[in-house]
Amino acid sequence: MASAYNPNASAKDFRVAIVGGGMCGLACAVGLSRFGIHADIFESAPKFDEVGAGVGLGPNALRALDGLGVLDTVLARGDDAERTLRRMVFVSGQGAHGEVYDYNDSSEFTDADTGIGIYRPAFLDALLPLLPNPNATHFNKRCTSISTSTSGAQVIHFADGTTHEADLIIGADGIKSTSRNAVAGTDEKLLQFTNTVAYRGLVPMETLRLEGVKTNLARRVYNFIGIDKHIIAFPIKSGKIVNIVAFATDNSVPVGSVEVNGPWVQPVPQQELLDRFSGWGHDVVAMLKHLKTPSKWSIHTLIPLETFVRGRIVLVGDAAHAMAPHLGAGVGQGFEDVFLLCELLGHPSTNLSNLEDVLKAYDAVRQPRANMVLKESFRAGVIYEALGKPGYGPNDMESHLAGIFEPIWRHDLDADVASTVAGLRERGSFPAVTNE
Ligand SMILES: Cc1cc2nc3c(=O)[nH]c(=O)nc-3n(C[C@H](O)[C@H](O)[C@H](O)COP(=O)(O)OP(=O)(O)OC[C@H]3O[C@@H](n4cnc5c(N)ncnc54)[C@H](O)[C@@H]3O)c2cc1C
Repeated sequence: MASAYNPNASAKDFRVAIVGGGMCGLACAVGLSRFGIHADIFESAPKFDEVGAGVGLGPNALRALDGLGVLDTVLARGDDAERTLRRMVFVSGQGAHGEVYDYNDSSEFTDADTGIGIYRPAFLDALLPLLPNPNATHFNKRCTSISTSTSGAQVIHFADGTTHEADLIIGADGIKSTSRNAVAGTDEKLLQFTNTVAYRGLVPMETLRLEGVKTNLARRVYNFIGIDKHIIAFPIKSGKIVNIVAFATDNSVPVGSVEVNGPWVQPVPQQELLDRFSGWGHDVVAMLKHLKTPSKWSIHTLIPLETFVRGRIVLVGDAAHAMAPHLGAGVGQGFEDVFLLCELLGHPSTNLSNLEDVLKAYDAVRQPRANMVLKESFRAGVIYEALGKPGYGPNDMESHLAGIFEPIWRHDLDADVASTVAGLRERGSFPAVTNE
C-alpha cells in the first residue's frame, strides 16, 4: 500500500505506523506530531468513534495529557471537563446509603490532585482537530497480523488483503488487540473474563432530583458498595448528566473459568438490571430506573504481559494492559505509555539505529508500572464488593480503601523520562553528551 509517509516531512529517519485510532492511538499521533514525527494511523472502523459514556481521568492522566500538549484543548471543552477533586465517597448501596469511607480522609490534597470526568466523544472531538495530517489516517483497515520483511521492516497485514510497511509499529488496538499477538503470542488465555459484568448508561441530573435522589451526585464520584455488586456514579457535562456504571460479579466460579462466547458488549432489557439490584437502597433504584437502555459489558482483564515490546513493535493502552476499570485508570495508564513513548521517540538522540534500545527502555518503565495498576484495579473491585463479608465490615473498610489511588495518581512522569534517558546514556545507546 502506498504510504502517506513523507521522509522530508518527518523529523526522524524511521517510519511510524499506529494500529488503532482509539483514545491512546490518537493521543499518540498528536504527541508524536509535536516532535515533527509523522505517523500513519490504521483504524479498523469506518470512522473515529467513541462509546457514548463518561470516562474518569485522574491527576496522572491529566499530567500525561499535559505533557502530550493536549490538556488545554481537552479542558477547553468546558461543558465536559471541569477539574475537580475526583475523590470517591464510598457509601452502602443498601438502606439509606450510609457513608462507609470518604477518600478525602486518605491524605492531604492539593490543586494538583484534581481530575476530570469527560464524555468520551468529547475527548475525540477535542483531539481530532489536532491531528496534523488527515491523509495519514486510514479507515476500514483491520490489522490481522504483523510480519518482518527481509529488509528488517515491519509489515502490517490487513483484512482487505493489503499491507503497509513501517520501521516502528505502535499497537494501540485495544483490549482485543491483534498487534499484541506479534509481541505476546496468540494464547487466547491471556485475556480472562473477570466474572463481572458492567451495565452502563447516562441519566440527567434533573431527573434524579425529581426522583428525590438525595446523594449529591453533582459534585463527587460516588461508589455504592455491597456484596458482589457496586455502582460508580459521577457527573459529566458540568454536572448536568450522571454517568452510571453498575457492576455485578458471579463469585461462584473462579476467575478465568468462564469464557464469554457472544459479544462482550450488548444491549440488555432494563429489567435484568433492576432484578440484579432489587433490594438495594432508594437512590440506587431511582438511578437504575432511569437507565432505560443499558448496555452490558463483560469485563475482561489481561494476564500481565511479560513485555510490551518485541523488536520494533510496541504496545500502548489496552493492547498492553487491558484492566478491570475499578480504579478508573485504564486509559490513564495508556496516556502514560504514550507520553513516555513520545518523549523517547522525539528525543534528539533517537534514530533508526537505536530504536530497539529505546523501546526496551520504554518497556522497562511501563511494563512494571502498568501491570501494578492492572493488578491493583482487580483487587479494588474485590474490596468494593465485599462490604459485610468477614473482615470487611463498615469499620474495616478504611484499612482496605485508604490510599488505594495514591500510587496511581502521584507518580512523577517527568522523572520517568529523565531516568530513562539517563539509562540510555549510561548504556551507550544515547551519546553521553548531547547538544539537546
Ligand atoms: C465499563 C468501563 C469503564 C471504564 N472506565 C474508565 C475510566 O473511568 N477511566 C479510565 O481511565 N479507563 C476506564 N476504562 C478503560 C478504558 O475504556 C480503556 O482503557 C481505554 O478505552 C483504552 O483505550 P485504547 O485506545 O487503548 O483502546 P480502545 O479505546 O479500545 O481503542 C482501540 C482502537 O483500535 C481499533 N482496533 C481494534 N482492533 C483493530 C485492528 N485489528 N486493526 C485496526 N484497528 C483496530 C478500535 O476500533 C479502536 O478504535 C473503562 C472501561 C470499561 C469497560
